[in-house]
Amino acid sequence: MIRVEKLHKTFGTGTRARPVLHEVDLNIAQGTIGAVVGPSGAGKSTLARCVNLLERPTSGRVWVAGTDVTDLPERDLRHARRAIGTVFQSANLLRRRTAAQNVAMPLRYLGVTAREEKRRVAELLERVGLTDRADDYPAQLSGGQRQRVGIARALALRPKVLLSDEATSGLDPAATRSVLALLRELRTDLDLAILLITHEMEVVREVADTAALLREGRVAESGPVHQLVADPHSALGNALLPDRP
Ligand code: ATP
Ligand code: MG
Repeated sequence: MIRVEKLHKTFGTGTRARPVLHEVDLNIAQGTIGAVVGPSGAGKSTLARCVNLLERPTSGRVWVAGTDVTDLPERDLRHARRAIGTVFQSANLLRRRTAAQNVAMPLRYLGVTAREEKRRVAELLERVGLTDRADDYPAQLSGGQRQRVGIARALALRPKVLLSDEATSGLDPAATRSVLALLRELRTDLDLAILLITHEMEVVREVADTAALLREGRVAESGPVHQLVADPHSALGNALLPDRP
């Protein structure tokens, strides 16, 4: 699970202090997709970075897959990050490596045998439907295919939780649907807890089980998606769902 409790994050100190997250609570169970939705600058990426341990919370607590990761000493961070797969907006693939080599990158540090590496990479590429593109370079792939390679790479270390920060923005509707369908499948097949960051309510409706609406660093409202969509209470909820019946 991903659990965040009373998370505060302030950048800078003294007169330069800029509070970005206030009292944020979040709960995403294994086998579910929890979306965080909100406008640009709301603090979504900062929240994700506090969960994948790229930022330290100013206060509050963060749990990942049962472990309290809030105050982990520096030397334990690398190990803890292995339980967390992250997919970014631009898949961040290495241009001079093939799809298969990109997926293999995280395994390199584990000291698995070449044979085991090959087997795992083949399995991961199959999972994201790209077996036949293993030897292609990123430039030869479509945006949606690149994102699927990024997802395969994020899964290489068998994480318990997956973070997706705007992974479908910039994709056309068909590619977006295919990436979202893949996330839904992974959620169930691998029993992942997925934190899905997006500014598009369409994406939330399509895949998420629960959602938290974030505005200026605060959760305006949260709950099961069907409930939020049917009956938004906050101004942000209403603004995000203008076409509701
Ligand atoms: P977007 O939808 O545009 O990606 P976001 O919701 O992901 O926006 P964040 O990137 O989390 O927003 O940024 C929230 C606020 O925190 C912004 O005002 C940003 O300027 C500020 N911020 C983010 N990172 C830092 C940093 N390292 N130092 C100072 N301020 C930061
Ligand atoms: Mg962001």
